[in-house]
Amino acid sequence: MEQILQEADLRPGEDGLWTDAGHTLGVARSRAGLFVGWLDVGWIGTDDAFSEMRDVSHLAAGVRPEHLSREIAIALDEAAAARAEHLRDCGRCRERFVPGQMYGADCCHSCATRELGVRF
Ligand SMILES: [Zn+2]
Repeated sequence: MEQILQEADLRPGEDGLWTDAGHTLGVARSRAGLFVGWLDVGWIGTDDAFSEMRDVSHLAAGVRPEHLSREIAIALDEAAAARAEHLRDCGRCRERFVPGQMYGADCCHSCATRELGVRF
């Protein structure tokens, strides 16, 4: 299993979530199978962020090994497409962010801190 995930260019993080280099997609392993989604930013407190998986699809534990690489690749592609649909534009810096990195409808956290003086 780990080899298949590594071949999909994923690496395990300290929290056990396997992610891509850009930390945009995640795979969670469990005895029930794999859970694949894109990574938003969730907030426990104002300064305590965590990776929050969205639009999660489930690959059952019973998927045959010879099909697993392809199933993972399809699930990752679908997660990447779902993430792209959810990216939002910051009207100030013109960059695109996941919803959890936005302060308001059209302002990212960085711009809110830098330009609006918002403290988190
Ligand atoms: Zn911005």
